[in-house]
Amino acid sequence: MRKHPIAAIATPPGSGGVSIIRVSGQQLVGLAEALLAKPPTTRYAHHFFLNDAQGNRLDEALLIFFKGPASFTGEDVIELHCHGGAHLSQAILNRVLELGNDWGIKQAEAGEFSLRAYLNGKIDLVQAEAIADLINAQSDAAIKGAARSLRGQFSDSVNQLIEEITQLRILVESTLDFPEEEIEFLESSKANERLASILKKLQALVEKTQQGKILRDGIRLALVGPPNVGKSSLLNCLLGEERAIVTPVAGTTRDRIEESITLQGVPVHLVDTAGLRVSADVVEQIGIARTWDAIEDADTIIFMRDLSTTQSGEDGGLEEKVKARANKKAHIIEVFNKLDLVDSQKRQLGISTSEKNTIHISAKTGDGIDALKERILSLAGWQANLAAGVFTARDRHLSAIAEAKESLLKAQAHGLNGNHSLDLFAEELRLSQDALGQITGKLLPDELLGKIFSEFCIGK
Ligand code: GDP
Repeated sequence: MRKHPIAAIATPPGSGGVSIIRVSGQQLVGLAEALLAKPPTTRYAHHFFLNDAQGNRLDEALLIFFKGPASFTGEDVIELHCHGGAHLSQAILNRVLELGNDWGIKQAEAGEFSLRAYLNGKIDLVQAEAIADLINAQSDAAIKGAARSLRGQFSDSVNQLIEEITQLRILVESTLDFPEEEIEFLESSKANERLASILKKLQALVEKTQQGKILRDGIRLALVGPPNVGKSSLLNCLLGEERAIVTPVAGTTRDRIEESITLQGVPVHLVDTAGLRVSADVVEQIGIARTWDAIEDADTIIFMRDLSTTQSGEDGGLEEKVKARANKKAHIIEVFNKLDLVDSQKRQLGISTSEKNTIHISAKTGDGIDALKERILSLAGWQANLAAGVFTARDRHLSAIAEAKESLLKAQAHGLNGNHSLDLFAEELRLSQDALGQITGKLLPDELLGKIFSEFCIGK
């Protein structure tokens, strides 16, 4: 762990009422004193004037000093609340870096405050990730989910499973040296039943974690189809009711025009692929290439047709091309639009012949839109009945749980038949413990740790 103090602007770039500069280090009393021209009181909002090296006033600000370990990072922390100008915050950060030079202060790297909080045992890895999720949450449900993880609900479930596996492992390993009585002892202690119960709890955790991943990552949905079938109308129809709160965040890499909505709290990232056609225009070709990228990335593709004109699904082979390019795991929903234009007899027929992945809608009247929304969510695996109590989760968590499950199943397959299988049984228990330990970060290689925190922003 790097010992030098770190500093960064903790608020987003741009101008606003207040900007906060955060400093963390093992001994920051001296730096606080240099800023305030008097010793700091811990957790007290000091009003002071900050000058540059030449004595010119930069700002009138507040300084709060948190004495470690009672701080976010577990180290001494200084927060400077200054006026929120982009240039001003940078000038103040520069001044702090200048003053902190004697203490070896450096500009913080992405996620470094959270990394220090984690390394100092203030939060575990799931909680560190939950902070990022909370900041990036795109719906109220995602906020609640991240808050649950941050409070430790996800970590508690994982730790409880690790504890149960540990107890079982102790039991199995303690009998390894007693050849005669061991099996009887294990039988009477119901080792097999205990393993089965752990597996059951793990399965429940898998389901909850899958929901958490959907809540965090959302669904990438591409709208595809020939011109004039009503793609833009459907987009507007969905946006009109369910538009998510979207804020332009500088520094995020979004090169495609996307719109986001939330369905039952699940973020749905919509990409309108209206421009799919052959074009000689270079700029348009780039746009089309991106559209194909969107199709490749999509979790769900809505392939749209016009019910009032389409008999045989003539689309110049577009649907086949889309299917060929789509991710193997992507779900394709065939949507027939303009239901309002077909006569009522055909209309009834239309609805009753709705096949598994075919939905009839009218983007104009809103008919069938609710069914379409349900379909989008259910294909993604969202289970509304599990939504209460869901915490946000990531791929990383799901793979670790899957790994743990595999080991437990292997242990179950080995059974408890003699010393050799007891050895293997215990070893698989150990492997499952290790896998689960990666979730909260107990057993995570350093490079992976670095990778996780580097995805955070500077100042986080
Ligand atoms: P896109 O080219 O696929 O994006 O199609 P648009 O959304 O621009 O729609 C093409 C035309 O169809 C417009 O004139 C729309 O008003 C009309 N349209 C779209 N959806 C419906 C619908 O459900 N019913 C009717 N009657 N017209 C629709």
